[in-house]
Amino acid sequence: MKPYKHSRVLIIGSGPAGYTAAIYAARAALNPVLVHGLQPGGQLTITTDVENWPGETSIMGPDLMAKMEAQAVHLGVELISDIVTDVQLDGPPFVATGDSGTMYAGDTLVIATGAQARWLNLPSETRLRGAGVSACATCDGFFYRGKTVAVVGGGNTAVEEALFLTNFAAKVYLIHRRDTLRADKVNQARLFANPKVEPIWDARVIEVLGGGSPETVTGVRLERLSGGQREFAIDGLFIAIGHTPATALFEGQLDMDDEGYILTKPDSTATNIPGVFAAGDVKDKAFRQAVTAAGMGCMAALEAERWLAHHAVHFQAAEAAE
Ligand code: FAD
Ligand code: NAP
Repeated sequence: MKPYKHSRVLIIGSGPAGYTAAIYAARAALNPVLVHGLQPGGQLTITTDVENWPGETSIMGPDLMAKMEAQAVHLGVELISDIVTDVQLDGPPFVATGDSGTMYAGDTLVIATGAQARWLNLPSETRLRGAGVSACATCDGFFYRGKTVAVVGGGNTAVEEALFLTNFAAKVYLIHRRDTLRADKVNQARLFANPKVEPIWDARVIEVLGGGSPETVTGVRLERLSGGQREFAIDGLFIAIGHTPATALFEGQLDMDDEGYILTKPDSTATNIPGVFAAGDVKDKAFRQAVTAAGMGCMAALEAERWLAHHAVHFQAAEAAE
């Protein structure tokens, strides 16, 4: 008996990248196996309306992910509820060990483990997530036409989110814990030139204020570095203090940038290990969108298929020896 569950294409993660890779690999008759992880369906399962997925004017995030899952199941993808706790990438085959103790081996591996937004970790922020607190202006900015919003952070993301929000909001505060931004000078110049933006320096959000029924964001309480607190009214709060890619498992085995995003070859999802591909937010800090993650999932499956075809002789020999 084989000591592990073997597949031609092993996929880790069931966000838009993982499901799209699975759908393409299944349609290429590669019988993929997909391991869900802690968040089946990925980040979109924790949001409400998604209005930028082509073909759907508006769809709830969990419904969109349920549709992707149904399509994968329809095509025969084997979905497994397990959390990968260890990977050995000195293959092929590439071996992932699950929390259940099961070992999964893939002749190719698609890593689609995504990323998680960093939060301030305030109880009020957690309570109001999805009710005025967001970590994605591209996703939710549209809902703040004519309103007042605040962005927390001082990096490129915070500045770009603040600028993006000026397309809708009447007023955008940028709340930063220091008095200088980390963002590129060109971004800073655009920000300071925008009359809708008001920076608030040396300030830390200590509470997100809510009201109404159902409760939504009504304001924030800030603590100034110089001492003292200030409260002011806002309709939405965007947290832009960075993301953490889910790549701890692959440290020391795959090339990553200094923030832990997996590095891939230009115009490709190929990592530094032949046969191992990375798709979606786990390798993308520039776009972080469902549609771009799905696009990369498609690329990863097509690249895995080509890689398998190219190495067919090797696998035929290995199968014959089993
Ligand atoms: P993810 O969706 O992050 O999925 C990662 C998957 O990997 C999960 O299934 C997880 O369980 C799995 N995983 C992680 N570690 C392991 C492990 N060790 N073992 C097994 N599995 C593992 N984008 C839009 O385009 N439109 C929107 O309106 C929009 N709204 C958003 C709202 C919110 C609140 C958030 C947080 C994000 C939103 N986004 C939106 C961004 C979008 O959700 C992401 O860009 C997209 O989900 C990334 O897809 P992904 O497949 O790369 O990873
Ligand atoms: P980032 O550069 O790490 O900036 C995070 C910001 O959040 C910093 O200003 C930081 O403050 C602040 N911050 C962190 N933790 C905080 C906390 N607990 N409370 C309050 N503030 C906190 O992250 P990013 O802006 O997401 O960018 C990530 C990477 O992607 C960067 O390399 C960036 O250049 C790149 N990026 C590039 C572009 C572009 O080129 N157009 C666009 C987006 C992102 P401090 O400054 O005080 O540390």
